[in-house]
Amino acid sequence: MGHDYFKEVVKDIKRAAKIIGLPIDHVARLAHPRAEIRVAVPLVRDNGSIEVFTGYRVQHHNARGPFKGGIRLDPDVKPDMLKAIAAIMSLKCATMDIPWGGSHGAISCDPDKLSRGELERVARRYTYMLLPFIGPKKDIPAPDRGTDAQFMSWIMDTFSTMHGHTITGVVTGKPVEVGGTRGRKDATGRGVMFITRRALEDANIPLQGSTVTCIGFGNVGSFAAHHLARKGCKVLAASDRHGGIHDPSGLDIHALREWVEEKGTVKGFPGAEPVTDDDILAMDIDVLVSAARELTVTSKNQAKVNARIIVEAANASVTSKAASALHERGIIVLPDILVSAGGVTASYFEWVQDTSSFFWSEHEIAVRLRDLMLQAYDDVNAIARERDLDLRTAAYVLSVGRLVEAQMRRGVWP
Ligand code: GLU
Repeated sequence: MGHDYFKEVVKDIKRAAKIIGLPIDHVARLAHPRAEIRVAVPLVRDNGSIEVFTGYRVQHHNARGPFKGGIRLDPDVKPDMLKAIAAIMSLKCATMDIPWGGSHGAISCDPDKLSRGELERVARRYTYMLLPFIGPKKDIPAPDRGTDAQFMSWIMDTFSTMHGHTITGVVTGKPVEVGGTRGRKDATGRGVMFITRRALEDANIPLQGSTVTCIGFGNVGSFAAHHLARKGCKVLAASDRHGGIHDPSGLDIHALREWVEEKGTVKGFPGAEPVTDDDILAMDIDVLVSAARELTVTSKNQAKVNARIIVEAANASVTSKAASALHERGIIVLPDILVSAGGVTASYFEWVQDTSSFFWSEHEIAVRLRDLMLQAYDDVNAIARERDLDLRTAAYVLSVGRLVEAQMRRGVWP
């Protein structure tokens, strides 16, 4: 598993299209990314030696607007997974009804092995290599695993310098000092909370005291845990790539986030016992947040899951086959293209603010994020009820319908 996940996404797209009777030749266009760009990213290391990384950008679909998606730093980039996530971004923006398509990029380096100066040079060279392909009206990168606000700032500065004036809208997820939006950093986690809260309500599970575990405790998982805990959920376990921890009486998320800030891992958090991801999967709880990486919950391990609701907070972290099997078992799967859309939605707010040079308050952003997320949840839920589908399939039906509609209106040129 892992190789050719794009094929799985295409299969799901076709299945959704069939449910609503979309013309197959138009659907076929979604099976081909518009462009797959691959560039060399040479870096002069601090010691003077030269290392060459590979930079990628897959642009999946732009009939609804510019391509949009993150950039990750990953020493074992799987080009096929980039294609899958680029397609997922098209579906995610369409589910949210944001006027963007989807893309995704990567650089084949390990951020833990590079100094700050080296990272900056990588960011600038990658941007330079992609100059003809990105821009506020073409393709707008954002953070993903291994990249952050500072990295986005370097991209923005390089792009702006090459054009001779400041162009803040070329990336989102920037620091607020240079055209970033308030509330971007925790937006994905906050969005997870909004959708999970509503799903718990619909499942008649009281939010107060509901039990949560979190596989993955990075920017998405830790903020999801933070916002869920603030609403009264009890977070019993959390893990990252170094290890996991469990406290049956509930973890102090504030203290845990401080611990991780300092130590770089949840491992060793005082008062909690060590656990493995397999232990976490098997815990009898209400909500399992899958925020680590793609292909975490697969058909191999889904049978262990003992949660009422699975939150696919990291893109493609629950495989299509696992999602169907979980649904069969009566477990609710909140799909990535809905539940993890808070980040790209805040990115949309950032881009709108950059375009108008008029910035909103933290409160305005939180309220608009909640409203858009809940609107999307209602749209997906309405389709699920109407057609008797699981939420994942319903989200595909909604988004594939929107993508194909836009394509058909535009037609094929010439
Ligand atoms: N990488 C994030 C995602 O997959 C954010 C993308 C964006 O804001 O463009 O949703």
